[in-house]
Amino acid sequence: MPDTVARALTEALPYVQRLAGRVVVVKYGGAAMKAADLSDAVLQDVVLLHAVGVKVVLCHGGGPEVSAMGRRLGIEPRFVDGLRITDDETMRVAQQVQIGGISRDVIGGISRHGGRAIGLSGHDCGGFLRATPRVHTDRETGAPVDLGRVGDVTSVDGAVITGLLDTGLIPVIAPVAVDGDQRSLNVNADSVATAVAQVLGATRLVFLTDVSGIRGADGKEAAQVHADTLENWIQDGVVAGGMIPKAEACLAALRAGVEAVTVADGRVPHALLVELLTDAGVGTQVLPAPEPPC
Ligand code: ADP
Ligand code: MG
Repeated sequence: MPDTVARALTEALPYVQRLAGRVVVVKYGGAAMKAADLSDAVLQDVVLLHAVGVKVVLCHGGGPEVSAMGRRLGIEPRFVDGLRITDDETMRVAQQVQIGGISRDVIGGISRHGGRAIGLSGHDCGGFLRATPRVHTDRETGAPVDLGRVGDVTSVDGAVITGLLDTGLIPVIAPVAVDGDQRSLNVNADSVATAVAQVLGATRLVFLTDVSGIRGADGKEAAQVHADTLENWIQDGVVAGGMIPKAEACLAALRAGVEAVTVADGRVPHALLVELLTDAGVGTQVLPAPEPPC
């Protein structure tokens, strides 16, 4: 037993050395968020990573909780291509659940493990997270779809995040942005995580979700996939629903120079530590397209 512990700790050393002082963005959603024990393990991992010098930024989702609260209020959720149709009332619910509920729970969980976190969303700091209303075309019919208060992220105030990281805080970002009039827009948390990773020049981006990776054309989860293949999977419908924004987010992050992007299995306890600090992987790593032969 002491041997195993020592081996695990020494295995982590080169990873800690590589990541200390670097930015790692974690998108937290899916199962890792629903089950209390898994969710606690994620937050403990975040505090541990922070304690060894990694600059961790946490972006959370919370779609299922928004749907559940909406249903309690008599609002049935509707989606097109994995995007929530968001009328003004749904936006209000989303804002309250994401910022008033989930962010607070995450920040509290981090505090319980001895970390210090701070919540951020669109309205903070003079428009921390900005977006424009999304114009969407139905993937199957090609018809325009009015999604309501759904936005595409246009900017993130990286200086705010950097300032907080420099004072030893763990930023926790909710997927609520503002438009030019400071009105709320619902944004996909995967896209928020990508925009944050881009603006900070993050080294790693990890999406914690509730599947064991991205299923390919053969129906099996791939341990690794190149960007060009993933693009084909999106085109061919192999990647669908909530995996579409995630896959697109992976591609955008790679284009922006993030070294490695992983869709990790949040159902595995301590998936984050295993993915970032050990030789093992827990999901699908998306790699830049291979260089064409000369
Ligand atoms: P999260 O809450 O982590 O953002 P989502 O539900 O939005 O999770 O997206 C993940 C879901 O995408 C999976 O649960 C799965 O049902 C769906 N999905 C669609 N296509 C694929 C695929 N090719 N590989 C894996 N999951 C897929
Ligand atoms: Mg999602």
